[in-house]
Amino acid sequence: MTEPTVSESLAAARQRLAEALSAAGRPMADARLLAVSKTKPAAMIREAWHLGQRDFGENYVQEALNKQDELTDLEDIVWHFIGPLQSNKSREVAERFSWVHSVDRQKVARRLNDQRPASLDPLNICLQVNISTEASKSGMSLAELPALAEAVLSMPRLRLRGLMAIPAPSKGLEAQRAPLARLREALEELRERFPEAPLDTLSMGMSDDLEAAVMEGATLVRLGTAIFGARQRHE
Ligand SMILES: *Cc1c(COP(=O)(O)O)cnc(C)c1O
Repeated sequence: MTEPTVSESLAAARQRLAEALSAAGRPMADARLLAVSKTKPAAMIREAWHLGQRDFGENYVQEALNKQDELTDLEDIVWHFIGPLQSNKSREVAERFSWVHSVDRQKVARRLNDQRPASLDPLNICLQVNISTEASKSGMSLAELPALAEAVLSMPRLRLRGLMAIPAPSKGLEAQRAPLARLREALEELRERFPEAPLDTLSMGMSDDLEAAVMEGATLVRLGTAIFGARQRHE
């Protein structure tokens, strides 16, 4: 069997998102696709861009910079950093991305704020929360969230947009929805606490749980495999 092309997969992913929004009774403009291109070549990103995709997510700083260097002619492309961020890589991320979804401690937020060039718009930030009950590798606990949100809101070169999570994999809509509902509730609480903040983003939903995420209010759905096919390297 031949692999579907990027064009076919992207069309199917758009259809899937549209159906999920419709099933959830939400307007089409409520959520968009973030195409997760980690481990995939720049040529595939270019192909998706030509099909109208603008938001792309990368996990590894050096790999992302190499692809960005190959794609400088795609002026309106929007780069999102979604992987674990070490402080010693924060400068490149502050200079070369529009969004960071994986901020989970003040030290990294402070560095991104200090390193964001004055010539660029403030860096859009999602705080990564660990919403699964079992211990997971990254993300802060819900209890730590208000303090970090308040700190980020005080940083002028950062713009706090919302929350991101990678729940532990589970099967079945109801099981998938439970942790995603906790992220939605956490965003609602932040909005009440900080009514002036531009908190419009729930970054959740991947290839296996898009429908559950859209039902729980996802606004930015991070699809890798569903758009670019299976990855060789294990993530
Ligand atoms: C790899 C990755 C994705 C995409 O996962 P798929 O299951 O391939 O859709 C989404 N979010 C993050 C943070 C990732 O690292």
